[in-house]
Amino acid sequence: MSYVQRVIDAVKEKDPDQELFIQAVTEVLESLEPVLDAHPEYEANAILERIVEPERVVMFRVPWVDDNGKVQVNRGMRVQFNSAIGPYKGGLRLDPSVNLSMIKFLGFEQIFKNSLTTLPMGGAKGGSDFDPKGKSDMEVMRFCQSFMTELAKHIGADTDVPAGDIGTGGREIGYMFGQYKRLRNEFTGVLTGKGLQYGGSLARPEATGYGLVYLVEEHLKCNGESFEGKTVAVHGSGNVAIYAIQKVTQLGGKVVTCSDRKGWIYDPEGVDYEIVKQIKEVERGSLALYAERKAGAEYHEGDARGVWTIPCDIALPCAAQNTLFIEDAQTLVANGCKIVGEGANMPTTLDATKYLQANGVAFFPGKAANAGGVATSGLEMSQNSERLSWTFEEVDAKLKDIMVNIYHAADDAAKEYGVEGDFVAGANIAGFVKVADAMIAQGVC
Ligand code: GLU
Repeated sequence: MSYVQRVIDAVKEKDPDQELFIQAVTEVLESLEPVLDAHPEYEANAILERIVEPERVVMFRVPWVDDNGKVQVNRGMRVQFNSAIGPYKGGLRLDPSVNLSMIKFLGFEQIFKNSLTTLPMGGAKGGSDFDPKGKSDMEVMRFCQSFMTELAKHIGADTDVPAGDIGTGGREIGYMFGQYKRLRNEFTGVLTGKGLQYGGSLARPEATGYGLVYLVEEHLKCNGESFEGKTVAVHGSGNVAIYAIQKVTQLGGKVVTCSDRKGWIYDPEGVDYEIVKQIKEVERGSLALYAERKAGAEYHEGDARGVWTIPCDIALPCAAQNTLFIEDAQTLVANGCKIVGEGANMPTTLDATKYLQANGVAFFPGKAANAGGVATSGLEMSQNSERLSWTFEEVDAKLKDIMVNIYHAADDAAKEYGVEGDFVAGANIAGFVKVADAMIAQGVC
């Protein structure tokens, strides 16, 4: 049995109920076979056994008082996965679906994603099963303060720098930052995604969506094409989706779909990102409102996977994990889709990914394609350290550079290890090698 298979089996045996984590480990490790064959030192140093085990997991009670004076209790956690190349870095997810398996999967992915950015950031993830939807601002604030009261003991600008993710946006980061500052009596860059008035970076809100589009644009460019005239299907309508829609539109492409948890939009004239932004970010309402505001647009209540039935050249899943299944992959291929870029973390299931790749679709995994968010968080950390703010243009240019470099790093790694065109393997290998070499250099720890 191969080294990779033994480690996957050991993970399954140790945590058989952690399905999402097992899925992420399987996807990464299987694609590392060629690099492990070429470098026996990784097995000799037990790199895989170590890399699948978080350095630290913190799990804690988050009690808070709702608007009716009733005590509520949620579960908070932070998985500090790997600090070989820098302080732990990764977002905080606030969603009722959050559990340890999900946070471990996200933290594991983050190790390789952060490495790919070329910036010095280790991998981590955290969150809570708290649902900010339907809560008042004061309830969200009381939750965030309680959450940070415990989390503050485990993080710091040079230790672990959390950020946003699903359910954690600018409002939540603000409340958490305020509480950290009170507890520590320190104004530091302990969180990223902050407001511009207190150390946030220009272009951070746009970064994940823009970065995704920059990476796909580089692929198109290398093949003598551009977004001009391309039809794009987007799944999702959160922070990543909104700015991906804006950038595709700016580059001459047409986004014809987007979705939320209750339904999806088909807008043959091209989705207007400003309307989506107003509904989702300002009003925090349902996408059903979109069809009332934009002539010619259709709203379909029900499974948002309906977006994959609309013919497109490029598909951008930007919502959450496991939202593009094998049947969707088959439909996309049958309709002529040529590129899939993951704006979310692991939205495509393993069999769907393999089907897309086997059918000639250029597939860009989240850890490469959505790395623009955390990369710009890294740029926010740099600005905080030098106590300066860069212009939008400066940050945007650096982001674009990073995405172009990620594309070529993944492409080159795939070529070097004999799997040309396989960007899943390329991204995993390129991200892994730097971390593994740093782990060896630092001894058994
Ligand atoms: N949550 C984002 C991600 O999945 C951003 C993390 C960060 O900025 O630290 O990469």
